[in-house]
Amino acid sequence: MKTITKSTCCYCGVGCGVLIESENGQIIGVQGDPDHPANFGRLCTKGLTLAQTAQSQTGRALYPELRLSRDAQRQRTDWDSALDTVAARFAGIVQQHGPDAVAFYVSGQLLTEDYYVFNKLAKGLIGTNNIDTNSRLCMSSSVTAYKLALGADGPPTCYEDLELADCVLLAGSNMAYAHPVLFRRLEAAKAARGAKWIVVDPRRTDTAALADLHLQIQPGTDVALFNGMLHHLIWEGLIAADYIAAHTEGFAALKALVRDYTPRMAAEICGILEADLIQAAELFGRSPASLSLYCMGLNQSAHGTDKNLALINLHLASQQIGRPGAGPFSLTGQPNAMGGREVGGMATMLAAHRDIQNPEHRAEVARFWGVERLSDIPGTPAVALFDALKSGQIKAVFIACTNPAHSMPDLNTVREALQTAEFVVLQEAFAHTDTAAYADVLLPASSWGEKVGTVTNSERRISRVRAAVAAPGEARHDWWIATEVARRMEMLLRPGLPTLFPYADPESVFNEHRALTVGRDLDIAGLSYALLEQAGPQQWPLPQGQLHGQARRYTDGVFATASGQAKFHATPYKPLAEPTNARYPFHLLTGRLRDQWHGMSRTGRLPQLFSHTPEPSLSMHPLDAERRGFKAGDLLRVSSKRGQLVLPLQISDEVSSGSVFAAMHWNGQFLNSGGINEASIGKVDGKSFQPELKHAAVRVEPA
Ligand code: SF4
Repeated sequence: MKTITKSTCCYCGVGCGVLIESENGQIIGVQGDPDHPANFGRLCTKGLTLAQTAQSQTGRALYPELRLSRDAQRQRTDWDSALDTVAARFAGIVQQHGPDAVAFYVSGQLLTEDYYVFNKLAKGLIGTNNIDTNSRLCMSSSVTAYKLALGADGPPTCYEDLELADCVLLAGSNMAYAHPVLFRRLEAAKAARGAKWIVVDPRRTDTAALADLHLQIQPGTDVALFNGMLHHLIWEGLIAADYIAAHTEGFAALKALVRDYTPRMAAEICGILEADLIQAAELFGRSPASLSLYCMGLNQSAHGTDKNLALINLHLASQQIGRPGAGPFSLTGQPNAMGGREVGGMATMLAAHRDIQNPEHRAEVARFWGVERLSDIPGTPAVALFDALKSGQIKAVFIACTNPAHSMPDLNTVREALQTAEFVVLQEAFAHTDTAAYADVLLPASSWGEKVGTVTNSERRISRVRAAVAAPGEARHDWWIATEVARRMEMLLRPGLPTLFPYADPESVFNEHRALTVGRDLDIAGLSYALLEQAGPQQWPLPQGQLHGQARRYTDGVFATASGQAKFHATPYKPLAEPTNARYPFHLLTGRLRDQWHGMSRTGRLPQLFSHTPEPSLSMHPLDAERRGFKAGDLLRVSSKRGQLVLPLQISDEVSSGSVFAAMHWNGQFLNSGGINEASIGKVDGKSFQPELKHAAVRVEPA
């Protein structure tokens, strides 16, 4: 008999609702859920092919595997042996070297319940804040800027604003590829209401091609652009003086800074026409409702937080915030980067948006969990985590649902770290990722269509994820595996005490999480699996007594800072972390393809998803190719100070002369290398610790 199961797409942060059709334990079809408020039935190519990718079980991790020494191959084992080994090795290292000698590296692909258990295992049981996630590579600059400027993480906006904006500023986002279903909503709104689009991107992407104004800036000059636009708004009296006086702090210092950023000077830094910069400022400042949509182009930068802050400055100064159709809207990359932050599953935060450095927050969580205290030592964020593994400061790492040997910057360092580590655990649905080669223990995990829990999308909306079929082989759910490891470690680290992990199912984990949010900005005490069942996906906050979530935040002009005032930040423009020079004369830019997702462990299994872009390539401007005598299809070696890879040339005027572009997805299964991160730089933003994955200086020569 055919069954229809409502769930959520597992790819991007749009969080589309899906209807999974299954029969005899097989997923046989997927359609968009017409009732889901993110997509109203639409799906992109990735979502539409979820059934086919789920049917292909080739390469799934089916059984626990274990090796007892580094020079041995992993052998199949049983769950008890695998879990006992992981618990004993981790507990042994903690007892010998202290809690900060171990670390967890998890994923924005995990469900909120999975994330919660991992976070409690690290911070509550072991007593280390060394748990970070691939969301560090994705959203941390946005998070840091929201907190600094508005007082709390999370966007003030909602998807409905896409349809209500008169001016849309897309910065560092190829939304047509990265958030396709939202882009369709935006296109429909443009057709219906004539909204003006400004696209800020060093490449002429498919998104930029549809813009009313494309600002093809030099890489990394976004802050100069936004400061120049603000200068024009101030000069022309397009700022909201009363709003600034009543609801913000720090404007005088910002005004003094941007005095120097005349449109002419800013445009010169950006490599664009002064008239175009002025036109962008006029459109943004004079439109009744201006919405900015931004993503990795701002975030994945050594100055990512400043880029976000400079953009938020524009919104605050012109009161383009807290109103329908207006606001700074950071588009989440992964399906549950937001949920991971809600449970505090990162090295720099605690549960329910609490802070590690705040003694009251630590005491609240410790009391709630029933542990003596939480560590006040900041955890080690992703890039530093692998550096510490390489230096031996961290001795064991537990990786779940992510592939750092492909996705982290500066892959030589990451590979050395995984080789040096005393003990590497990998919890994964797929057996042959780049990282799997380094694992001492492989714990097979369930995947999309098999899992149960919740995720939070880009507009703070929590949706249910439901299982349509059972996991293959002996694969188990992520929350279950983390719970079983935790219970075994408890017996070694705190014998005789009641368990901290009394979970029977994901719902019991969710209920504990929501109780921890009471009184916080993301309070979801009023939300339950039952309410999600009955009323559908809901946005947070949703405190006790409410039946529906809140679409927009800060509509009353009161912000989540201690003073209730939003804070301007004076952000001077800083040059790229790695400028080009005579030896490395090209700007290497990275980005997404339309039909692939991350490291392709799922999308790379389906031939039809290669029809749009069949093979990896390096895009170069025709003039640059001609000057060097390169022809389309030539194999070229792309080298940075850190590493190199070989790619065939694609000649394209989508990139400016002086820049080259390569997609981020291709990995060791498709190349004789780990992919573009062989060349990328591990330099991180000083505030958010997010690495500069979008840019590196490279040279290009015949292979
Ligand atoms: Fe899935 Fe994102 Fe496509 Fe929606 S837009 S179907 S969430 S990949």
